[in-house]
Amino acid sequence: ERLLPAPADLPDVALNPNAAVVLAKRYYRKGASGEQLEDARDMFWRVASAIAAEETKYEASTWKHEDLAREFYDLMTGWRFLPNSPTLMNAGTDLGQLSACFVLPVGDSIEEIFDAVKHAAMIHKSGGGTGFSFSRLRPKESRVGSTGGVASGPISFLRIFNTATEQIKQGGTRRGANMGILRIDHPDIMDFIRAKERDGEFNNFNLSVALTEAFMQAVENDEDYPLIAPHSGLEKGRLKAREVFELLVRKAWESGDPGIVFIDRINRDNPTPDQGEIESTNPCGEQPLLPYEACNLGSVNLSAFFIPGHENDPNPADKGVDWKALKRVIHLGVRFLDNVIDASRFPLERITERVHQNRKIGLGVMGWADLLFQLRIAYDSPEALHLGERMMAFVRDEGRAASKQLAKERGPFPAYPASTFAERDLGPYRNATVTTIAPTGTLSILAGCSSGIEPLFALSFARHVMDGERLVEVNPHFEAAARAEGCHSPRLMETVASKGSIHGMDHLPEAMRRVFVTAMDIEPVWHLKMQAAFQQYTDNAVSKTVNLPNNATIEDIRNIYWMAYEEGCKGVTVYRDGCKSVQVLCTGDGE
Ligand code: UDP
Repeated sequence: ERLLPAPADLPDVALNPNAAVVLAKRYYRKGASGEQLEDARDMFWRVASAIAAEETKYEASTWKHEDLAREFYDLMTGWRFLPNSPTLMNAGTDLGQLSACFVLPVGDSIEEIFDAVKHAAMIHKSGGGTGFSFSRLRPKESRVGSTGGVASGPISFLRIFNTATEQIKQGGTRRGANMGILRIDHPDIMDFIRAKERDGEFNNFNLSVALTEAFMQAVENDEDYPLIAPHSGLEKGRLKAREVFELLVRKAWESGDPGIVFIDRINRDNPTPDQGEIESTNPCGEQPLLPYEACNLGSVNLSAFFIPGHENDPNPADKGVDWKALKRVIHLGVRFLDNVIDASRFPLERITERVHQNRKIGLGVMGWADLLFQLRIAYDSPEALHLGERMMAFVRDEGRAASKQLAKERGPFPAYPASTFAERDLGPYRNATVTTIAPTGTLSILAGCSSGIEPLFALSFARHVMDGERLVEVNPHFEAAARAEGCHSPRLMETVASKGSIHGMDHLPEAMRRVFVTAMDIEPVWHLKMQAAFQQYTDNAVSKTVNLPNNATIEDIRNIYWMAYEEGCKGVTVYRDGCKSVQVLCTGDGE
């Protein structure tokens, strides 16, 4: 009854070649001996009909199951909206775990630590990623009451989580992803900042340091600050804030790790503070969550809403973006994600309870850089920032309007009365948060668009997808523009493939060089400004990597960190080209 048979007139799916590879390798359901049980049409119908089925239990709903399933099918197969990978993989299957993001608590006892290891393993098996704060663990060498021995501290336990993760494939398809967080005032913070010094250490973890407002002020005023043992509340020494900040900056310059999150700022936006503090985010940092909370994400492909013919208008986005269609997709997307909460089956009862109480969802965007290409707006320009703000304000406002509508039909999220929305009299919502900007690592491949709000890494590049597989692609908007400008040639495409960028190619039209910029052509501050522009209108956080060229200085990174703080970001991740041996994305050079 939940999975309707596919209607005979259901259209087929037009797959780009990369999507065909990724779907066959990781998404389609497989039989006992690994044989493929479905194709793209079957898969998207499975997801559409399973998620639409949730609608039928709400009396106030005006949707018929099949009509809504068709809408959802069109939404996904038209590459206008996609839910996060676990939803595509597991909706309508026995597993049925549909969320990408989880946070688990790690308490200061052997029992609690190993419960967390076990729960993480269960979540990874179901396809989710996990975040943890290790800040509650007593520092290394503190006394252990029951044995008279000494504690081994957060970093050594982190190693156990890392090893356990190594052995479990997420949903049988990808290795588990984790976030590990430690507060800046934890006595073991210096070890934590240095944890990834050795290549390959903690390879299943992203690490981030939780910076407090007090710490940032101590940096500003060049003061020292206390280290506090979490189990006793006692001060265990003091450090000079600027020295620690410098070390953070230097480590980020060397290896990109650890990142930073502004934990007090994250908690200032916690919609349900009565349920406790937020101590961690999901693996890629875009989704702060309470312990035992999970969240499902979905992303709208902005480049699908481009209307050709207005590129040369003074404000090309006014008529060059189909705002009306975008609004409709946002409303359907919120409905989709709210249904996902009901459809998802979680590996722990406590997670189910928490999730149903707050009903957080994370609607975001992808294809932003592509849309800017289509509109002929340079990523590193005030117009792009301005449009970014306008775009995300639109997504947030329409997303909230949709959540309000759902609250009318289905009731507000159960924790609403004690939430900050009720306090501020912001009318009942169905969801404690509505917006999040995910990295869209695989979703953007499926939709054939640029990922999240990232600029293009290269106009043409090879992608290492998995198991060493390599896919080469030229950005379609660049290719089309080159043809329109009459400068397309196989030789040009080849040069671009090896360089990645058209920077410095003086024989190409100036306007084209200005618009078709890549992550490496853009001054690092523009990465940060774009992140801040979108963050302003995002309930949760924004996944963004500030890419820096190999010759970026420590000073550059210090400036980026400080700007992230001043511009209201919730965290920041930097990556200096070439500073790690393995890169997920590669330009043609040196291949
Ligand atoms: N994630 C994960 N393992 C992965 C990739 C992603 O657990 O290999 C989780 C993680 O919480 C991440 C979130 O999924 O923050 C969203 O990542 P992304 O948008 O790249 O996922 P997609 O839906 O595109 O696969």
